[in-house]
Amino acid sequence: MIQRAGRHFLQIPGPTNVPDRVLRAMDRPTMDHRSPAFAELVKGLKEPLRRIFGCAGPVIIYPASGSGAWEAALVNTLSPGDRVLMYETGHFAKLWAEIATLLGLEPVILPGSWRSGADVEAIGRALEQDRSHTIRAVCVVHNETSTGCVSPIADVRAAIDAAGHPALLMVDTISSLGSMPYAADEWGVDVTVAGSQKGLMLPPGLSFNAVSSKALDAARAARLPRSYWDWSKMIDMNGRGFFPYTPATNMLYGLGEALAMLEEEGLDNVFARHARHAEATRAAVRHWGLETQCGHNGHHSNSLTAVRLPEGHSADRLRAVIADRFDMSLGNGLSQLADRVFRIGHLGDLNDLTLMGTLAGVEMGLSLAGVPHQAGGVQAAMAILSREETETMQPIEMKRAAR
Ligand code: PLP
Repeated sequence: MIQRAGRHFLQIPGPTNVPDRVLRAMDRPTMDHRSPAFAELVKGLKEPLRRIFGCAGPVIIYPASGSGAWEAALVNTLSPGDRVLMYETGHFAKLWAEIATLLGLEPVILPGSWRSGADVEAIGRALEQDRSHTIRAVCVVHNETSTGCVSPIADVRAAIDAAGHPALLMVDTISSLGSMPYAADEWGVDVTVAGSQKGLMLPPGLSFNAVSSKALDAARAARLPRSYWDWSKMIDMNGRGFFPYTPATNMLYGLGEALAMLEEEGLDNVFARHARHAEATRAAVRHWGLETQCGHNGHHSNSLTAVRLPEGHSADRLRAVIADRFDMSLGNGLSQLADRVFRIGHLGDLNDLTLMGTLAGVEMGLSLAGVPHQAGGVQAAMAILSREETETMQPIEMKRAAR
């Protein structure tokens, strides 16, 4: 491997950069996971986790990637042959539906354009037509990482209620939690699926289910086989600060630190920061004369932007040029978007100048790869990042003083 000076720019939409503070928190000798000190660590995570999910119920932590938490949500609440309504926002929604099929469930897939979040009216209509209530759950990806589109979760819940339908609502927040506002209880979400490696600023390896009391009731009747993912054993042992099997001990130190960092910045500030970075990124893309994959104005993601390349130009070649010349990783296009889009991750531990470096790398890459564009996107982003702070974006110190 060639030694390259400076830090690699990891600007994929997850895994994201892990702050030094989190790395240091994990850099400890392995601890006894049956000791009183470990129980204290686990008990201390409970309330900060509830605050970030916006829930009063249990938050279950798995030593697994996000896909594990997808599977856990399904096997704990459903029975063989159950119908689940799944909106295809993009690649990740499609993968969740494939898991449902493999587990012996019957996904009812509502196709989407991959250029917007979920169509709430289509969900409402499907539920109204299901008069005998055979659909047991509605599954939606909050932030579709393959397209950069967000789904309006509170509206999905309103559509379920308006149809008078008893289905559970399950939401994947793997690339939104800790980057965009989320409120499981207020939005009536029964199972929230999340992962450690994006807005939570941790390495990959932990995933989560935040569970409502309605989902806990469903779990008592559910008949899909489950062992590793079983909520009941987890909830029972977690109550005493332990796990039914060996947990990812050092990752839990990191989790405690990452949650503390998010709270110290203030969640509202964290969300405003992501919104601002997303706005600056879109301004650059517009100026370049390129199109975002998200074509619905109200559905743009604050954690990533997927950018379409003009016909005849390869997004993978552009990414390779940027990686080679500027040591920066950008996300690739997935499934039907392979080679058509590249994805700029602007989530997690990111500040204005990191974003500027990222956009400068993209703009230089566009020139080098011969992709037609109008130079000056970086300036367009700078104009947004350097404008006067608005009320919601006051410097953190001023906000703290005002409290
Ligand atoms: N859901 C979303 C929205 C994702 O972005 C990802 C991964 O990027 C997954 C699910 C799958 O998670 P994992 O790759 O951690 O298993």
